[in-house]
Parts: sequence; structure tokens; C-alpha cells
Amino acid sequence: MQTHNTILFEIGRTYNRRQEIHQPYGGQQQGGISTPSRFAAIFLFTSDSGHVHGYRDAYRKDGVFCYTGEGQQGDMTMIGSNKALRDHELLGKAVYLFEASKTIGKGKVRYVGEASYLGHHVEERLDTSGVSRLAIIFELAVDSTGPTPANSQSDAEGMYSATTATQIDRMSLEELRQLAKAKASQGSTPSQRVTLVRKRSQAIRMYVLKRANGQCEGCAEQAPFLTKTKAPYLEPHHTLRLADGGPDAPEHVIALCPNCHRRAHYADNSIEFNLSLIEKLAVLEA
Ligand SMILES: [Zn+2]
Repeated sequence: MQTHNTILFEIGRTYNRRQEIHQPYGGQQQGGISTPSRFAAIFLFTSDSGHVHGYRDAYRKDGVFCYTGEGQQGDMTMIGSNKALRDHELLGKAVYLFEASKTIGKGKVRYVGEASYLGHHVEERLDTSGVSRLAIIFELAVDSTGPTPANSQSDAEGMYSATTATQIDRMSLEELRQLAKAKASQGSTPSQRVTLVRKRSQAIRMYVLKRANGQCEGCAEQAPFLTKTKAPYLEPHHTLRLADGGPDAPEHVIALCPNCHRRAHYADNSIEFNLSLIEKLAVLEA
């Protein structure tokens, strides 16, 4: 078996699911969890049309990504691909998360980053025929910072465990940047990784707001109002992802006024607008 290091996807890039993922690497071409047999990899697909089938994958407030397991009808069970996802670390398989949507185009998916299993729970959801059943909801950490440079010496657990929420609020831009890019080390426990996801989400949020310095990074207007803690109100927007919330990399997240933020998600030219934001970010982060 080849190691997962032989598979590299570029965060934010769009891939043709059949030709660029399943042809070279294998795995089921339908469904959400694809488990190729020749590669130590699992491909996960999330879609913004999931709510049609009675679920919606989303980032929780603490930055953990909640992903609905497989099984269209009846109670979901921890077998097959659900089991493979739960046990990916034991099996030595890397998990690659992709998202599909109408805006990305038919048959295409965008690479979000590597995911890892933190835990799961069971929720009552409707199945495709509208009948209530038990669904497995996976709790995942999603890493959109890309491969770790060979010379990186980050000790994420050390950095995060020594940091309280208040300290994160007071950090400098550069300190926040370091924190936002810190990675979980091999062998960290699920609870350490939950902490890391939560603190990284907070660090990225603080970093982006600090970088914006009270001005919308989309239209350059002042934030429309101050919050109850007297901070300028702006919203972090993830330019390479459909859903906001959760951690990402500092260079992919932009601080927007509510108007620009709605525009990025709902305008008829949201794709072009989002591209213009990506260009602005490249300048801001240069
Ligand atoms: Zn704006």
C-alpha cells in the first residue's frame, strides 16, 4: 500500500471528482465517504445541498466540523465507510475533505483540507423519505493550513495549552499568526485536538479582526458599529470555503462588514466578488 503522502491536493483548488480524484486514486464515485482500497486515504464529500436530504454539515461554534455519516434510510450504523472514518487513524489513512455546490459546478469539488476524527454522536434526523431515524454525526478537526514545512518546529500543544482565551485576545498580530498556523502533532489525543481546534478558531478570528483594524477589508469602509465590548463590528469570511466558522488559515480569511459579507455569499456576482477578496488578501498577507 502506498502512503498517504503520495496524495497532495491544493487547498481551495477545484477538482473534477471523477477524473481527478477517483480515476487516479479509486474509491466510490457516489456518496459522502469514499474509501479507496489502493491508497491509505479516505475522501470525504460535503455538499451545501445536504439539507435537501434532511441534514446539513456545519462548523460548530467551537470550530469542530460536524459531518453526517452514510446511510440514506433507517438508523445509521457504525459499519463500512462510517467505521472506516471513525478508525482512520488506526488504519493509517489520511482524510481529505472536499465540498460540492451549485456555485462550484456539476461534477466538481473544492478541496478544503485534511480532516481528523475527534469523536461522534447520534442525532435524530429525517431520512430521504421524511422518516425520523438516528444519524451518526462525526466531529472532525479540519486543517486548511496545508502541508507543514520541513523546517517547522511548531509545538502546537505546548503553545495552546499555555494560552488562555484572554491571552489570545491580547496577542500581537504576529503572535496570533503563529498560533493560527500551529498544527497538532502526531499522536495528540482527541481532547488535545478539540482544544487546539477551539483555540485556533479563536486565534484566526482575533488575527483577522486585528489585521482589519476597524475597517472592512472588502469595501474599506469603517465598521458600521461598535459591539458591546466597544470593538468595531466585522465578520470573518472564509474565501476558499462555502461555510464560515471553524478554523482555517489566516491567508484565507477576510474581515468584512455585514453588507460585503452578505454580498460574498448571496450576490448574483458572488463568485467574482469572492475572487476580488482573494486578490485583496494576497496583498494584505504579502
Ligand atoms: Zn464592506
